[in-house]
Amino acid sequence: MTNEVAIIGAGLSGLTLALALHQQGIKATVYESRASPLNIGGAVMLSPNALKVLDALDLYQQVQSRGYNFESLEFLKSGGELIETYEFGSNAKYGYQANRIYRHELIDSILSDVLAKGISVVFNRKYLRVVEETNDHVIWESTDGQKSEAMLLIGADGIHSSVRKHIYPEIEPKFTGMAGITAAVPATQVVYPGGKIDKPLTFISKDKGAFVIAPQKADASEMFFGKQRPIEEQTREGWEKFFADKESLVKFLQTDAEVFGEVAISATKSIPHDKINVWPFYVIPPLQTWASDKRRVLILGDAAHAIPPSAGQGINQAFEDVYMFALLLAEAKRGKVKLEEALGTWQSYRQDRIGKVLELNKQIDLRRMPAPPIGSQPQHEVPKQEFDLSWLYEPDFKAEVETWVTMMNN
Ligand SMILES: Cc1cc2nc3c(=O)[nH]c(=O)nc-3n(C[C@H](O)[C@H](O)[C@H](O)COP(=O)(O)OP(=O)(O)OC[C@H]3O[C@@H](n4cnc5c(N)ncnc54)[C@H](O)[C@@H]3O)c2cc1C
Repeated sequence: MTNEVAIIGAGLSGLTLALALHQQGIKATVYESRASPLNIGGAVMLSPNALKVLDALDLYQQVQSRGYNFESLEFLKSGGELIETYEFGSNAKYGYQANRIYRHELIDSILSDVLAKGISVVFNRKYLRVVEETNDHVIWESTDGQKSEAMLLIGADGIHSSVRKHIYPEIEPKFTGMAGITAAVPATQVVYPGGKIDKPLTFISKDKGAFVIAPQKADASEMFFGKQRPIEEQTREGWEKFFADKESLVKFLQTDAEVFGEVAISATKSIPHDKINVWPFYVIPPLQTWASDKRRVLILGDAAHAIPPSAGQGINQAFEDVYMFALLLAEAKRGKVKLEEALGTWQSYRQDRIGKVLELNKQIDLRRMPAPPIGSQPQHEVPKQEFDLSWLYEPDFKAEVETWVTMMNN
């Protein structure tokens, strides 16, 4: 019988999982439907909880040098008055600054390491379905008709996951009705009367939404910016058409720039089409379980949970999923705990943290919503104190696992 762990999807979750398992001496193969990992463009922001995982996998130095390092985000009124500062990292408090890195740079760093370690990545192999699942193995089929056996099949195949269908045949991702439209220009193009932009800034207008701008690339030579807009759900062809119509996207980014002042006017003046990106926000409902009944098929990353963008935790939580999973699976492989127990603990630990992130998202949205009209009753008491984010940025995954294993063996 095979000992192999089959990972479906060579995205950030799948590739990082392969590395984390390799570190624990567990053999895994990654299967990716495309000819290379999906690169949906743009950059992601990494917070200390994810950077700690990358550090444990010896990837932190690369990431730190390839991305832009900063510590906080600022939220301002459209006129420039500071509303609040939100911590995204801190060398002094958590041992890591935050890092904004191009997705392709991050994938490249991780994939190079995966290949250097001799981990097998099979491209152009698209998962289709599970053919057979027993209490100790799973046989799955790809669209080319090949059948393979694995000890565990892990769906790291994103929000539109096909592996999830094995556990939840009915669930489809739901479009939220909003999409982020973003772009990037040379930093020299941007004029900011408030001084140098050295951290992500979000300008909030009462009736025109928000304009986000952030330095990116290691030397901050580029400025990213973007806005969100309501939009009806599109078919795949519809999204492709929407994305291809660069002139309309430029126009959207330029509309109401004067509301946000010189910074938005200068940033949006001339926008290179190849730097435009669209992020339609899809979600899936909270799932009770991330494993099949027989526990041989699991999902993680975006396949298991979709986190709205407010706290910037989408990819950061996926890194937590994979690292914790590898640590717990290793304990089961060493015979210290049963596989079922390890998987159960993994899921409850991770779901607990995801739940807290979703609650944090809610609190953030509440604070940043426009104030209610004068004279009307505020619907909620909005807390004014700073967020305490140490629970989010300072997890000690190894200590959690050690404590649990000790408890299980006493
Ligand atoms: C435009 C955009 C911008 C974003 N910006 C941010 C950000 O700033 N910060 C943040 O935290 N998050 C951001 N996100 C969300 C973030 O990208 C996701 O949380 C993250 O990519 C999830 O990683 P994943 O590996 O789980 O899934 P994915 O990145 O979706 O990777 C899934 C992989 O599985 C492969 N695959 C799919 N189906 C199959 C199959 N049947 N067989 C084999 N392979 C398959 C895909 O080709 C892909 O390579 C953004 C998302 C988008 C779309």
